[in-house]
Amino acid sequence: MEKRSHPMWRYVVCVLLVALVFALYVLRLYDWQILNGSTWLATADHSTQSTVAIPAARGEILDVNGEPLAVNRTGYAVVLNWPYMQQGSDAETTRQENETIRQIVTLLDSYGEEWTDELPILVQDGAYVFAEGEDREIETLKGRDYANVNSYATADLCMEALIERYGVEGYTMEETRDIVSVRYNMVKSQFGSSNPYTVAPDVSLEIVTILSENSQSLPGMSIEVTTAREYENTTLLPHIVGRMGKFSSMEDWEQNYRDQGYAFDDSIGISGVESAFESTLRGEDGEKVVETTSMGSVAGETITKAPQEGDTVYLTIDKRIQEVVNASLEQNILGTRENAERLNATNAGGRSSGHGEDCYTGGAVVMDVKTGAVLAAGTYPTYDLVQAQEDASYYASLANDTQGTPLVNKAFIGTFTPGSCFKPAVAAAALEEGVITNSTVITCNHYYTRFTDGSTTNAPTCLGWHGAITLRSAIADSCNVFFFETGYRLGITAMNLYCQRFGLGVKAGIEIGESAGVLAGPGSRDVWYQGETLNAAIGQSDNAFTTLQLCTYAATLANNGNRPRATIVSKITDYTRETVKDEIELEIVDNVGVSDENLAYVKAGMEAVITEGSAKSTLGNYPVKIAGKTGTAERSSGSDNVTFIGYAPADDPQIAFAVVLDHGSSGTYCQNVVRDILDAYFYDAEVGDDGVIRTESERRQAAAQNGDAASQNGGTSSAAQA
Ligand SMILES: [Zn+2]
Repeated sequence: MEKRSHPMWRYVVCVLLVALVFALYVLRLYDWQILNGSTWLATADHSTQSTVAIPAARGEILDVNGEPLAVNRTGYAVVLNWPYMQQGSDAETTRQENETIRQIVTLLDSYGEEWTDELPILVQDGAYVFAEGEDREIETLKGRDYANVNSYATADLCMEALIERYGVEGYTMEETRDIVSVRYNMVKSQFGSSNPYTVAPDVSLEIVTILSENSQSLPGMSIEVTTAREYENTTLLPHIVGRMGKFSSMEDWEQNYRDQGYAFDDSIGISGVESAFESTLRGEDGEKVVETTSMGSVAGETITKAPQEGDTVYLTIDKRIQEVVNASLEQNILGTRENAERLNATNAGGRSSGHGEDCYTGGAVVMDVKTGAVLAAGTYPTYDLVQAQEDASYYASLANDTQGTPLVNKAFIGTFTPGSCFKPAVAAAALEEGVITNSTVITCNHYYTRFTDGSTTNAPTCLGWHGAITLRSAIADSCNVFFFETGYRLGITAMNLYCQRFGLGVKAGIEIGESAGVLAGPGSRDVWYQGETLNAAIGQSDNAFTTLQLCTYAATLANNGNRPRATIVSKITDYTRETVKDEIELEIVDNVGVSDENLAYVKAGMEAVITEGSAKSTLGNYPVKIAGKTGTAERSSGSDNVTFIGYAPADDPQIAFAVVLDHGSSGTYCQNVVRDILDAYFYDAEVGDDGVIRTESERRQAAAQNGDAASQNGGTSSAAQA
């Protein structure tokens, strides 16, 4: 009742507001008619107002500690503004416009500065010719809005039409071609009174000075302060940071972006975080109103809306750990191939191939088990983000590289046959379903003969002869026979159910593009035969997962069966980084439904992998207690995959990790990557200038040795002087 007793108040406020607005109008009128009456009178006749966009700075992308990944550098753009370009007559406007363009382009060329040049016609041996591989652009050029010629018209004919259309007269062939190129692109970009045209998006301060000095003879030319993307390390995270680019076509822009206020020549994020967080990073352009008289001169300029900078995105990636992962993947993939050459040459194991000579790609993911935050996501081979954005032939070479497929993110998109690192999930499911217990004994005589009437012919095999073993040893020594039998008892339906809860064959929930992978089972092929369940149980058959899924699965084991949603963004702040707008919190998306007791049996097996099993020789002496599982997966052709999943410390997990070397053959190199990951997380390892990965204490040792060497050198030289 109390609240309803204030209608009078509201009324008074309303009246005051209306009065205030009215007063503003009166003031404005006073301004127009009395104070600036004469000025406004001069512009009143046919004066036009143009609303021009003021671009907003794009938000930046940083690592978890605020280290720069994609940040802004202040740059300078050369821009043409239509309201300032008009002359006394149309003919004079055209002549001056072309001359302005010629002067700008000539100057930029002489200083080796780049300008936007997309005309698919070149001057070659005194003739106009079409540029090669530009069929789409040539088709556009011949269209009604541009040359307006037949589809079979020659380059010469196109130029003739464009020269006439743009009124380009009295220049050399090269000059004519360049003027036409700029004019062509201006039309494409819908240059007009409200839409300035950027001739060169990023020029040096030196050229800015020269252009500014000559601005009297370049009507309409202005220098705009812009922000250009800058990357400290262009190969660190290209797949995750993502590329910036232009709209793929006019139709794409018209249908999907124009209504959102994008201009056709705007840049947008086209992959990775740049694309996924486009609306967050973009900000909001401002507006200014430019008033021009009927004679074409500018009467005034008013900023009506200030630009609003985009927000800054902090990733969960730790740059230092990421650098270690990248370097380690490269070293160990190259190491695999070198080792394979040696083994092939000596016919090791009775074969001269299949030792990893075909290992060209790999992925590694490190995750905080408690939050699902991805601390590092390595892809080998990587590529140069800036070159891919600027150099079309480099980009084409990346796209055509079918061996390394460098454009494919091997952490989130590429999928790999997991092999035996799939077994802990099967074990957890089998224990929970009661088809085995922790003390169930299964005898491995190398062959699994249940489906071959006891015959070893065509029977699936184990890599070893393990005899009578229980779960712990079966995980530690990766016994296939134990898991063939376990898979048979469990059945594919229950196996699939638990594996999905572990995140296998299910998207991990990361904010940028990822694959769902394939979980082998009735859903992965038309007819599922029971025999295939055996292969599925050891991580073969159709099973294929991303490195991220394998890591999420390891994190779920470490996290007592709670699967965290994977995330790559830690927080979003305003542009100044002062106000936090959004912070990522732990989200548990599933629980595997396996008792702590049963999970503990599986984990004990994974600890035994390190202390007595398949990873003892590589990780057994590591100072932090690890739980893990090795995998070797047969491929339809070429060397086996090697995989590893794990978490550490085993008794109080902080991180989970997964490493895959496609056709890697030797588990040693895979586990070397694991060791480097652990060194980075637990012992502050970093990559030195010499490319060597060293822990903090190793760095101290190296520094001490260098110090000794230096002081010895110093001693020698001073002795010599003495
Ligand atoms: Zn066995």
